[in-house]
Amino acid sequence: MLSPRPLSSYARAVRCAQLASRFPSRHVKIPIRSCSCSTPQKLQSSVSSSQASNVGAQLNPTTTDLPTPSLDHRTLAQKHDLFITSPYSPGSPLLLPNGTYIFEKLQAFLRAQYPIFGFREVITPTIYKKSLWEKSGHWENYAEDMFSVQGRGATGQTEDAQVGQDEEFGLKPMNCPGHCLLFGDATKTYRDLPVRYADFSALHRNEISGALSGLTRVRRFHQDDAHIFCRPDQILEEIEQTLKFVGMVYDTFGLGPYKLLLSTRPDQHFIGTPEEWDQAEEQLKSALNNSGRQWDINPGDGAFYGPKIDIILKDANGKEHQTATIQLDFQLPQRFDLQYQASPEELEANTPQRQGETLDSANRRPVIIHRAIYGSLERFMALLIEHYAGTYPFWLSPRPSIILSVNQDPAVLARVSYLQSFLSGMDHLEPRHSDPENTAPSSSAVPPKLRPRSLFGVHLPIDVDTSARPLGKKLAEARTKKYNHIIVIGPRDVDDEEGRISVELVNQPNIDAVKEVLRKVLGKDIEALELTRLTPRMSAKNARRYFKSLVYDYL
Ligand SMILES: [Zn+2]
Repeated sequence: MLSPRPLSSYARAVRCAQLASRFPSRHVKIPIRSCSCSTPQKLQSSVSSSQASNVGAQLNPTTTDLPTPSLDHRTLAQKHDLFITSPYSPGSPLLLPNGTYIFEKLQAFLRAQYPIFGFREVITPTIYKKSLWEKSGHWENYAEDMFSVQGRGATGQTEDAQVGQDEEFGLKPMNCPGHCLLFGDATKTYRDLPVRYADFSALHRNEISGALSGLTRVRRFHQDDAHIFCRPDQILEEIEQTLKFVGMVYDTFGLGPYKLLLSTRPDQHFIGTPEEWDQAEEQLKSALNNSGRQWDINPGDGAFYGPKIDIILKDANGKEHQTATIQLDFQLPQRFDLQYQASPEELEANTPQRQGETLDSANRRPVIIHRAIYGSLERFMALLIEHYAGTYPFWLSPRPSIILSVNQDPAVLARVSYLQSFLSGMDHLEPRHSDPENTAPSSSAVPPKLRPRSLFGVHLPIDVDTSARPLGKKLAEARTKKYNHIIVIGPRDVDDEEGRISVELVNQPNIDAVKEVLRKVLGKDIEALELTRLTPRMSAKNARRYFKSLVYDYL
């Protein structure tokens, strides 16, 4: 009978080391296949201006009024309690609750869009046997960038070991091989395609220590990674949809302008037939034309395994970042022997097999599209931290609102406590404090009934400051911390027969759109003067409606 191993034995058994030392320079590094996943971080982090001027692509403006970042994301992270780094985990930042909040909102935002674009999320392992990395080509070509992991028995000394058990393992630098295992697990027909897997797994790449920096050059990171397994005739539609997805995401965050860059077949050393490449490139060009965005071409700059489209984002300082990538791959399906039963049209066309292929005549190879829209979530976060400079839109903000008490009066404190629950969306609690808007009977003899919170409600981290410090100090601190709203509660609010509160709009990157939401929520109740002061007075119910509207509108 198997018994769980104690954690301490795992700690002893797991040893991470640079594969570089085991694979000295006889392994000439060639551009390994794939991916959004495989773009070296130094390329992802910025694109030199000379490269940018060479391509001469016109930028696609998405916003005209960008906030000007004034600080480095590492400085802003300290100020707003986002993440820390530790000498115990070089290149692997530790996210504080505020940073985690932003990270999870970024994930949740994409998750909400996945059904629109037909992606289904999967969960795949962090470590795989060396034999998988040999099959994918990483062990041969990507070793310097991988961490190896030695499990029990990896030295080949385990008694009664199963076949292949005594192997070294590798921490995954990308998800594609795991997704190939998922795709290849069951027989597919042409009707099953496209299959779209999305994966937010943590990835590890062994960057040299001198290059590590904040969230931009890290050893552990996450991607909004996805792989589309499709028929060759489906490439056009998939690329079109992916470009729409990119546009939707970047417009939502007010990022831009960005340019699209198509890299085509290298002159030499490519896999697949020239006809396959021509056909794929034509589809990419059509998708780019149909996107309505301007694009340019980098002839011969595609990877040996397929053409790609890079999205290059320009920040407010004029610095360019390669973020999203869409990459076609003819190689990986071959390495993993992925196939599907061909359609009647494909059988009729009787396309010739590639050299060395031994596919059954009724089957075809799918094409893989590697795609990431944020790229590395950590690096995308760094971009956003600098882009917003602490003034996050409400839906993304770890500090959406704070409620300050004027004094320590019990009635004031009770009102603050009630408002915190109500505005946060803690509606699983029965009301415990009297509220003029709430007519539900309350009895001190009956304890509050606890129900689970809904998965789908708008839940907000509303903070309170009920300390005995002077209000001026509390206000100053709230402003420094860049809360989106400040609500001050005093005796006047406790006595207000209509239960109204004053909600001060302090920080919002898109204030005009926010004002429009306020007008819609408050209708004629709001006077023009109050809007000008940006401290409208409203009922708690309307404040909650207003907050929910901001979240729904991604403001
Ligand atoms: Zn990939």
